[in-house]
Amino acid sequence: MEKIKEISKKIEKLRDKIREHNYRYYVLIQPVTSDEEYDELMRELAKLEKKYPELITPDSPTQRVGAPVNELKSVEHREKMLSLENAFLKDEIENFLSRVYKGLKNEEVEFVCELKIDGSAINLTYIDGIFIRGSTRGDGFMGDDVTSNLKTIKSIPTKMRSLYPEGELEVRGEAYMPIDAFKRINKERQKEQLPLFANPRNAAAGSLRQLDPHITAKRNLNIFIYGVGNWPVSEHENHFEVLQYLKKLGFRISPYIRKVKDLNGIWDFCREWEDKRDELNFEVDGVVIKVNSFLQQKTLGETTRNPRWAIAYKFPSVQKTTKVLDIKVGVGRTGTITPVAVLEPVQISGSVVSRATLHNIDEIRRKDVRIGDTVLVQKAGKVIPELVKVITEKRTGDEKIFDMPKKCPACKSNIIRLHNEVAYRCINAACSAQQFEKIVHFASRGAMDIDGLGPSVISKLLEKKLIRDVADIYYLKFDDIYQLDLFKEKSTTNLLNAIQRSKKRSLERLIYALGIRYVGSHTADILAKSYKSIEQLSETREQELLSIYEIGPHIAQSIVNFFKQSSNKKIIEKLKRAGLLMEREVIEQLPQLLEEKSFVVTGKLAGYTRDEITELIKSLGGKVSSSISKKTDYVLVGEEPGSKFEKAKKLKLKIITEKEFNKLKKT
Ligand code: NAD
Repeated sequence: MEKIKEISKKIEKLRDKIREHNYRYYVLIQPVTSDEEYDELMRELAKLEKKYPELITPDSPTQRVGAPVNELKSVEHREKMLSLENAFLKDEIENFLSRVYKGLKNEEVEFVCELKIDGSAINLTYIDGIFIRGSTRGDGFMGDDVTSNLKTIKSIPTKMRSLYPEGELEVRGEAYMPIDAFKRINKERQKEQLPLFANPRNAAAGSLRQLDPHITAKRNLNIFIYGVGNWPVSEHENHFEVLQYLKKLGFRISPYIRKVKDLNGIWDFCREWEDKRDELNFEVDGVVIKVNSFLQQKTLGETTRNPRWAIAYKFPSVQKTTKVLDIKVGVGRTGTITPVAVLEPVQISGSVVSRATLHNIDEIRRKDVRIGDTVLVQKAGKVIPELVKVITEKRTGDEKIFDMPKKCPACKSNIIRLHNEVAYRCINAACSAQQFEKIVHFASRGAMDIDGLGPSVISKLLEKKLIRDVADIYYLKFDDIYQLDLFKEKSTTNLLNAIQRSKKRSLERLIYALGIRYVGSHTADILAKSYKSIEQLSETREQELLSIYEIGPHIAQSIVNFFKQSSNKKIIEKLKRAGLLMEREVIEQLPQLLEEKSFVVTGKLAGYTRDEITELIKSLGGKVSSSISKKTDYVLVGEEPGSKFEKAKKLKLKIITEKEFNKLKKT
């Protein structure tokens, strides 16, 4: 009796822990534990519940899918959206097969293997072939209505093609963030000092839950459809046929699908993709194995959480042990001090990892990381190295506890922690490390786009005290640049020209380039639409800013503080004197000479950066695409073109030089 009470207590404790993780993962999209640790907790709970079935309650996480819906409008699924049972070993797949054969009285079974795309499950509702609503999985019964966000995904047909079935139907798939988009967005977020997405899955889930679809649209999400939900009449007998049919209706189906007969076939597919997963531009965390025949699926049925006719084999995440050689701190653009673990280099899925961010001191304390520790590291979302945990058994007693330094490593000023922040900051606005980051940001592509002014040149200019802040860039003389290593006459002139050209960048770019805390490119766009000049923005008040849609108290306060500081006032004055455009341009519409013409640009152009040429083509009514297709009208080729040039020749597309383009825009 006593024992049962104790076990019941243990089970409840486990459930609470898992519920908390579920809430953080599915609702807040800020998990605090790795998937491996989470899966381990779930297995422990399932094991206990299997042993003591009388203790199973309907609200146990093993009996539910995901988490309840968020603040978005909620919608009911016509057919429940289930999760999948997980298998981590070949033996577990074999057990699954045995259960299937037993359930089907040893009938012959065909299986379909598909890649398990690591994104967010989505339900799409169509009425008479028209897309009317899209939602997340939520708790399996109810999900969040994310229709307007899903409409930004171009591969979701708003109308099915050809002979579509009538009535109300549900199509299901996985919305995901491609890896290149994930990398780009995290890079931008780093620049804007926003928290980074831990992996493409969180990034996709977070993007889908945005209240403003304009933000989702910038996230480049995509979708693979993997099945149907409510689909009353179907002449198809199996899953594979339905996928082919969905393809005909205009849906995007994963090309990596295989029909197999037995465990060997399944295992070959799993091993093959475990090796090749790095070749894909989307994150794959395993393989889904499904019984193909609908009749057999029906016979097998489902549990409260999972179908009995499918299982997800999860790839082992590539983790390696290594040593923490040191913990160093870096200084960001706004003075944030970030601790980084310096690791004994290890090879993880194709690249050498020698550093891992530790985020902040709270994280270091939570994981109890010490210098000299042996640790487990993994690459989250194939990209960012992450310290999973310390292997405490390997401690010798010589490990050193890390403390945040009291002084900035770059300028030796005091470091402080503001009471409402987790981060520590160097408060010296003139700190050389901060200045460096600020200037790099100012000159970068999305900001003032000064071609040739990258981190190494900036570092040399700072070293020689030729610049101290962003405004000094505009007062550089020929000799200042010419004296730097590797600069010749032509490259010096090119850089000076690029600096000169950047003076005419738009108001939104300038606002973004100033590096005001919390003001990323999107907020800068909003501000440039609401204020007509830097001067007007600098005189604004918090109350006025708060009345603008999407500007919250943090951003408002940060903007007002920025313009209050005398050092910033001086920089703006200097920029103005240098002749920068400080006002919103009245854009006179250029003649739409390139209307409806699509361009692909490859190679280096003499007169334009990539951003400039893209803007110019767009302002003349044309379109710019990053990949070549038969529909491309012009391929503009510069110096040292890439493989697109070859492809263009093969497809016999119209290839033009920069000179020819300049002529084209005049005719
Ligand atoms: P899951 O990710 O293990 O698998 C089910 C999902 O796979 C389906 O809902 C579907 O969206 C997706 N899927 C991808 N490709 C598919 C295909 N071809 N066919 C069918 N489905 C496909 O299950 P889940 O319920 O979404 O998430 C549970 C997992 O999430 C856990 O195992 C854990 O790893 C992680 N999790 C982590 C935390 C944390 O705190 N770290 C918390 C909760 C959940």
